[in-house]
Amino acid sequence: MTDNSTACGGPAGEGGFGRFFLPGPTEVRPAVLAAQKRALIGHRGEPINALMREIQPGLREVFGTARPVLVSTSSATGLMEAAVRNGARERVLSLVNGAFSERFARIARACGFEVDHLEVPWGGVHDPDALRDRLRERRYDAVTMVHSETSTGALNPIAELARVAREFPDTLVLVDAVTSAGGAPVQADDRGLDFVLSGSQKAMALPPGLAFGVASERMMERSGSAARKGVYFDLVVFYDALAKEQTPNTPAVTLLYSLAEQLRHISAESLEGRWARHAAMARRCAEWADATREDAGVELSVLAPEGFRSPTVTCLLLPPGRTGPEVAQAMKERGFVIGAGYGRLKPRSVRIGHMGDHTVEELDGVLKALEEVLRASPGQGFAGGKR
Ligand SMILES: *Cc1c(COP(=O)(O)O)cnc(C)c1O
Repeated sequence: MTDNSTACGGPAGEGGFGRFFLPGPTEVRPAVLAAQKRALIGHRGEPINALMREIQPGLREVFGTARPVLVSTSSATGLMEAAVRNGARERVLSLVNGAFSERFARIARACGFEVDHLEVPWGGVHDPDALRDRLRERRYDAVTMVHSETSTGALNPIAELARVAREFPDTLVLVDAVTSAGGAPVQADDRGLDFVLSGSQKAMALPPGLAFGVASERMMERSGSAARKGVYFDLVVFYDALAKEQTPNTPAVTLLYSLAEQLRHISAESLEGRWARHAAMARRCAEWADATREDAGVELSVLAPEGFRSPTVTCLLLPPGRTGPEVAQAMKERGFVIGAGYGRLKPRSVRIGHMGDHTVEELDGVLKALEEVLRASPGQGFAGGKR
């Protein structure tokens, strides 16, 4: 993390380095940003093949798979659409526990599938036994779920959920790992996940614009006869191109340069090291929230239940009288960017994205400023310290 400064001479991001804690996009190392400045290459021919070859081992490690990982020039939502278009025939069960899992359901419905929801309160996670009950009631082609629900900071037990879904041979497991891949174990192969997708600008700490996905053999079989998969997100076409170390269409070549650079940094830290660093940041956030409540009397709590908290994003429920946008604005005045709540949680929560290349030390700076903001009355500017 030694290069996490303005050393490359570029302007600091919104808020400055070590101060940009949105739950995506997240801060990007200057060296990774600068990698985009290399001259362009064509998207057919040996140079692109070499680049596509170079990125595969790192991507496979991040996803925990021996299968090729596809790279899509789209944001992650594009691959959410690919998941259902290729993986469903008629009917989808969507596990909903926040805004992004709700989006997954909405996409499936918009693509013309019949969608049932299995919903738990936002902030909660899904119970494998409840999933089994639902899958016994009705046949579904696929189940959609979000590993780390970025709107609430909850981490679904995808291993257990996938194990239950795999008891039903026709039902594919489609997983949004957008804020987990790169920050938490995904283990696509061991867990029997049929399609796992992620985006570049979250725990991978790349600029926005790329999405990654890995499809099981079952998923590819399903895709072969999928009637509504369209053109841009046809997984068979993606995997045919991957076999030739290419992408179906013109990729965002300069972002691939950044990806290759970032995968070298990830490998240098080790994936296990990365998971541990993210877990430590989430722990620090929760401990700080408890201490702030107990010592300073600020009514503050982590929304997600203990044991099911995302290592990459923490959603904090604010004391009465405080709102997400107001607190985020007060943080901005102190030079820190954090997320206001998302969707229906916007008025009463804020979210700290402690993902990518952030450290516990940087996080401490954010928490210190947030404590000042929360101890002050709303709109009290820099006074701080008062209760
Ligand atoms: C950010 C996010 C998305 C959407 O990603 P885009 O890259 O904006 O399309 C989907 N799911 C989760 C869990 C996310 O955090």
